Amino acid sequence: MNLINSYYKVGIYIRLSKEDINKNGVVESESIINQRNLLLSYIEKNNLSLVDEYVDDGYSGTTFDRPNFNRLLKDIESGNINMVITKDLSRLGRDYIQSGYYLEQYFPMKRVRYVSILDNIDTYLDSTNNDIAPFKSLFNDMQSKDTSKKIRSILKNKKQQGKFLGSSPSFGYLKDPNDKHKLIIDYETAPIVRRIFDLALSGKSKDEICSILNNDNIITPIVYKGRKISSRCRCANIWTSSTIHNILSNLMYTGSMVQGRQSKLNYKSKKRIVLDRSNWIIVPNTHEPIVSIEEFELVNKKNTRIKLKTTRDKLLLEGLIYCFECNSLLSVRCDKRNKNNIHYIVNCNKYVRNPRLHLCSSHFIIYERLEKLVLDSVKKYFKLIDRDKIAKLLQNINFSCNLEKINNERISLNNKKNKLLLNLKKIYSDRENMIIGDESYKLLLYNIELELKSINNRLNILDGYKVKHINIPIDGFIKLDRKLLFYIIDRITVSKEKKVIIYYKFNKSL
Ligand SMILES: [Zn+2]
Repeated sequence: MNLINSYYKVGIYIRLSKEDINKNGVVESESIINQRNLLLSYIEKNNLSLVDEYVDDGYSGTTFDRPNFNRLLKDIESGNINMVITKDLSRLGRDYIQSGYYLEQYFPMKRVRYVSILDNIDTYLDSTNNDIAPFKSLFNDMQSKDTSKKIRSILKNKKQQGKFLGSSPSFGYLKDPNDKHKLIIDYETAPIVRRIFDLALSGKSKDEICSILNNDNIITPIVYKGRKISSRCRCANIWTSSTIHNILSNLMYTGSMVQGRQSKLNYKSKKRIVLDRSNWIIVPNTHEPIVSIEEFELVNKKNTRIKLKTTRDKLLLEGLIYCFECNSLLSVRCDKRNKNNIHYIVNCNKYVRNPRLHLCSSHFIIYERLEKLVLDSVKKYFKLIDRDKIAKLLQNINFSCNLEKINNERISLNNKKNKLLLNLKKIYSDRENMIIGDESYKLLLYNIELELKSINNRLNILDGYKVKHINIPIDGFIKLDRKLLFYIIDRITVSKEKKVIIYYKFNKSL
């Protein structure tokens, strides 16, 4: 007996997570001290020798990426440890498939003896208890799901009562110091919100509202919140039309509590998704409104109308023109001052937003003039090269960029597929050698097959892509459309002295 026991080099694994903490503190039976005492007394009773203890404090059982669990695996790999003991299976993990993997595949494969004290599992002893291990870990998985569901339903309930649960309220409101679930008017910023709505109601566009606020040096929500502003981002102090849009479309200002706009994907994931408006939790009359519902609706109806009006086809050079001085994209705006003669103007956005801040200087230039200048220059440039060469070159540019993208994706998909097939082989042989049980086998198989199916689907789609050559009407002339210009021109810069430089993607001598 002693001989056998001295063969084992024991690592005890202890895990405490937020799930184990209730409002009275840590659930006593799960505390680290308690887990450790139980494990040490087991070691003593069985005359085993302890090599190391591995404690993960504050890690959920739904993930296996825990620092000390990883250290444990490392020590198993290097042979420092060949026996692992936990208080119960849920300490190992609450994810059914992965716990099953360690229990039924990894530990046996590494010849590691695993003991779960309270579940009476000992992989060294041929016990019937080992057979229920997969079900036990399935149960743990379900319980974890259950806990997270419970917490979510409590939060949802509070939201449905109109209680504010966010970390910081909308610009214009403060948390009530007497009740953190209530909002009160912030007398410093609410007038700014009111002013924005008033300006919108008087027919001002979002851009116009921006200029007005910037000219008056009105503090922005980001700066007001006191977020760190890095030296690179001087724009935090500037109102942008997206900030204005967010304020004008925020229903909170009508006195309604709007929550639940985002949700976690599931209890295992941290990823958040934006929910459809129909799922939002909206409770009216929970706090003092800044605008009436009628005003809010009027402004938002107007917003959609303005939006529809401004959608137009992109002009030939839009997206290619940059500011020579500050490197930001130059915006093209429709100048409607003279209704009989509508034309477009180009200027640096940084300058236009707030000329007084001197973030950049005026780059005012009439778009039509710029376009003519650029097209003339491109035509001249083309005359210098042999037409056949241009055609070939353009085809190559198109060809290589598509092909490269598709090829890269295909390679990475095939790699993934090969890995999965290897896994599949391993699982088959583990099944044959009775290393894994029926349940694990079926689940692992199911998951792999699912993944393989989606990979094959995508590969089929990629195979369907026939790389199309662009048709260049080279008989006589080349049509300079947006697509073509973007292929040959990297960028066009305009300096404050109105000097225009065209940067081509390829060299004339090619
Ligand atoms: Zn600029």
